[in-house]
Amino acid sequence: MTMHKTDICIVGSGISGLAAATFLRKEQPERSLLVLEKDERPGGAIRSYHSEGYLAEWGPHGFLDNREESRELINLAGLKKNTVTAPLGRFVRYLCLNGRLSMVPQTPSRILMAPLISWPEKLRILGDLQRPYYAGEPTVAQWVEHRFGPALLPFADAIYTGTYAGDITKLRIDGVMPRLRRLEQEHGSVLKALFSRMRARSRERKVAGQSKPGLPAMTSFTAGMEQFPLALAKLLHNASCLQLNTLVQGVRQHQDGWILNTERAEEYHCRHLVLALPINAALALMRAVLPEQPPPTEFLPEARIDSVLLGFGPEAAIPFGFGYLAPEQEKRFSLGALFSTHMFPERSPEGEQLLEILVGGRRHPERLQLSDNDMIEQAYADVRQLIALPKEPRFAAVLRPEAGIPQPEEGYLKLLAWREEVEKRHSNLHILGFGWKGIGLNEMVHEAKLLARTLAAKPMVSTEELKGIYV
Ligand SMILES: Cc1cc2nc3c(=O)[nH]c(=O)nc-3n(C[C@H](O)[C@H](O)[C@H](O)COP(=O)(O)OP(=O)(O)OC[C@H]3O[C@@H](n4cnc5c(N)ncnc54)[C@H](O)[C@@H]3O)c2cc1C
Repeated sequence: MTMHKTDICIVGSGISGLAAATFLRKEQPERSLLVLEKDERPGGAIRSYHSEGYLAEWGPHGFLDNREESRELINLAGLKKNTVTAPLGRFVRYLCLNGRLSMVPQTPSRILMAPLISWPEKLRILGDLQRPYYAGEPTVAQWVEHRFGPALLPFADAIYTGTYAGDITKLRIDGVMPRLRRLEQEHGSVLKALFSRMRARSRERKVAGQSKPGLPAMTSFTAGMEQFPLALAKLLHNASCLQLNTLVQGVRQHQDGWILNTERAEEYHCRHLVLALPINAALALMRAVLPEQPPPTEFLPEARIDSVLLGFGPEAAIPFGFGYLAPEQEKRFSLGALFSTHMFPERSPEGEQLLEILVGGRRHPERLQLSDNDMIEQAYADVRQLIALPKEPRFAAVLRPEAGIPQPEEGYLKLLAWREEVEKRHSNLHILGFGWKGIGLNEMVHEAKLLARTLAAKPMVSTEELKGIYV
């Protein structure tokens, strides 16, 4: 049995694990640290697709550039010059309403003023100022209807289709918008809270002599999103801090540390264990680790999406913008589509355009069972009713990512409370990753930065000590 010893062991080399390791190495380059990854490639859900001059994404297409930690991580990866951006201020999104695409402005106040909502409906939205706090754990649909009336339901549906591929009749508002819920409770109204925050910020800017910041930009990389984890992984690999093809199968406590087993005759001993895994992968490992403190639920539902990629010449009349989303009430085949070459023009051969159509999600997992041909045919027929497209695409492919998006539905808040309790009782066990606190890449990087700070403040185990302990 081969035994490896390290101060910190991170399981998972998705963006959460890579970011935590990179931030920590920046603070403490001398600290002994190892990232273990089951796959032969790092990056987890982030993966780019290249074929016939088209560039598409299996997972995330981008993230907003309004988070300090993500900008820092881009710099640490040495990729500042490789970013490509699509500013929200220049782009619009579309909503499929009554069988056609309607432009949706980018800010809530402009949405309210847009003719998409009738005047009586606008008055009902203002009813939020008088509505009592919705106690308990309402679903997004229940909460939106209670506070603002039914007119905003298609908008909420589109937002949570675009982010979680979720079902607003199942997602819990406390799970997806915890801050907004706190504001609702503190101010008795969401609108009052938002107005008061806007006033406070404007006062702060005045005092600091700053002007109002513009809208952020959607950000990706010249070679696609995968360039980001690959660059981070390369740095860690060069420092001998990353090991691929290593599936962690079991974890057990030992003295004041942890022992990890893999499928090989090897053990990894560490003082600090970091699980940087999607929520369900972490739960699978944790059940056996802490039998006296089992998680309150075995599994959090996930939503999977497949992408149908279609390439066209300039004759396709794809409207300018990020793309569109279709709420469930429209009863369409596709969840929506991304106008990828409008966002990032280098994603197709010269003069061509790429559409990435999203299929499946929490509500329609059965559609993921279709063959490639059937899925392409149905997605194309659906989108052609909304956008003037030629009879045949020049290029077609289907991407079927394995990763599902964790859904903060019933039981999610109890899981969060359980994680907090576990981390309190085991100060050398740290849990972060996809679905724990949010699902967006910026949230993963934020959590990783917080963890790196926490770990950096803990005493370091020297190489000499490592030789002597855990034997
Ligand atoms: C289809 C899709 C679209 C998305 N779109 C966006 C978007 O547009 N914008 C955005 O901000 N976010 C988006 N996201 C979310 C984003 O991808 C995630 O926030 C992020 O990638 C999660 O990173 P992670 O490191 O926490 O988890 P993961 O990326 O899942 O990484 C976990 C890693 O752990 C490894 N692993 C698992 N079990 C073990 C084990 N036992 N031993 C060793 N290794 C193990 C896995 O192989 C994997 O590499 C999307 C996600 C999906 C699935």
